Amino acid sequence: MTVRVRFAPSPTGYLHVGGGRTALYNWLFARHHGGVFVLRSDDTDTERNTPEFQADILDSLNWLGMDWDEGIEIGGPHGSYRQSHRFDRYRAVAEAMVAAGAAYYDGATPEQLEALRVAAEAAGESPVYDGRHRLSAAEAAARVAAGDPPPVRLAVPRPGETRFVDVVRGEITFNHDNVDDFVMLRSDGSPTYHLASTVDDVDYGITHVIRGEDILPSTPKHILITDAMGGPRPAYAHLSLLNGPDGKKLSKRHGDTALRAYRDAGILPMAMLNFLAILGWSPGDDEEIVPLATMIERFDLGAVSRNPAVFDVAKLEWMNGHYLRAMAPEVFAEATLPLVEHDLGRPLTPGEHAAIAAVAPLVQERAKRLTDVTPQVRFLLEGDLEYEAASWDKVMATAEARVALEGAAAALAPLASWTVAAIEEALRGMLAAYGLTAGKGLQPIRVAVTGSAVSPPLFESLAALGRARTLDRIAAATVRIGG
Ligand code: GLU
Repeated sequence: MTVRVRFAPSPTGYLHVGGGRTALYNWLFARHHGGVFVLRSDDTDTERNTPEFQADILDSLNWLGMDWDEGIEIGGPHGSYRQSHRFDRYRAVAEAMVAAGAAYYDGATPEQLEALRVAAEAAGESPVYDGRHRLSAAEAAARVAAGDPPPVRLAVPRPGETRFVDVVRGEITFNHDNVDDFVMLRSDGSPTYHLASTVDDVDYGITHVIRGEDILPSTPKHILITDAMGGPRPAYAHLSLLNGPDGKKLSKRHGDTALRAYRDAGILPMAMLNFLAILGWSPGDDEEIVPLATMIERFDLGAVSRNPAVFDVAKLEWMNGHYLRAMAPEVFAEATLPLVEHDLGRPLTPGEHAAIAAVAPLVQERAKRLTDVTPQVRFLLEGDLEYEAASWDKVMATAEARVALEGAAAALAPLASWTVAAIEEALRGMLAAYGLTAGKGLQPIRVAVTGSAVSPPLFESLAALGRARTLDRIAAATVRIGG
């Protein structure tokens, strides 16, 4: 048997990090088994679908490097893989189920359904429609002829139960007393999610349905449709939902929930992939940094935890820092320089490019995100320096600031060669000559030259900036201190 799995997002929002994890587990499972990963578009909700959300799903999967073997954009043996193109097929399945007695046309009015709902609520139960208003074949035909086709509902066998073994959660039983005779086909001929999703899973030969736990209550409905279609039941694996660090369901309160926000905020795709992979699964040892090849080799759906996983951005940043430092310096520079240009809104001059490339390895050692780079290298840009107010106020108010700046100017101006070693020697000599600590004596120079108390290491920063600009900035800051 060839493993066939699917990821089936609806293009009604930006791809959520939880959706990214679901996609990844499907993808890893397919790659581990040499199977087929299908990307489907559950685009039945024409009111809420947008091309922008559809594009975001593709962009996000591409960003993370999850390629699909069949599906939207690339096609495959099952057509376009878009539910919006398959309404005829869903209608045909619903009608065949009616003909076979597994489903029926329903005549319940909105008032009758409302009365059932109110009664169930009063009894403290959830409403379960049991088919009491089903129409005879003649009644249904009359309504179809009158241009008012009734909805089609599945006839849930009563009494009865649906039992299956969930790969993650173990044996699960749903008593049909709690399963509605749900609508499969609406009066307007459109399918509900249950019908469209299940028909696709059967038609596309899906062997394993791996999806979020929020859908578990719908699974008995999907199994009943699958059985009625005569299809083999796929295996089901329902993944626990993601929580924030406070143990509550992950939501916007905890920070960004769209994958794109992390991409735009300087998270590397491999860091995100690794982070998502270990949200509920581990390769077996306690190792948290897991190379892609190891993920694919060891991925095991049966080893996925049924407990909620915690989406902790601090951990993601830690992981991102790891992957940033693992990059070759040229690769890091290549990844960051375009971002710096994007942030500036202009290309770098050759001089700026060289200066930034010189400090890039130092920034790389400290960065948590790719987006940390621009603020760290801004001082190397041509044009006026902007002082960060808090840094200036804190550092330049000390009595030592003027001494340090004047001492630094005197020590640096006559240097024979402008190298990191020569700069360091000159400035340490200045500190000793005036009896200044590194904190008191070097911080004013850092703020004068970089505008901020937080910068790449000082001597390297001055070396990259060049002598003329360093001395100009020290002089300008000395004037600005006044007195
Ligand atoms: N379109 C559904 C969703 O986005 C798919 C659920 C499923 O995997 O069956 O939630």
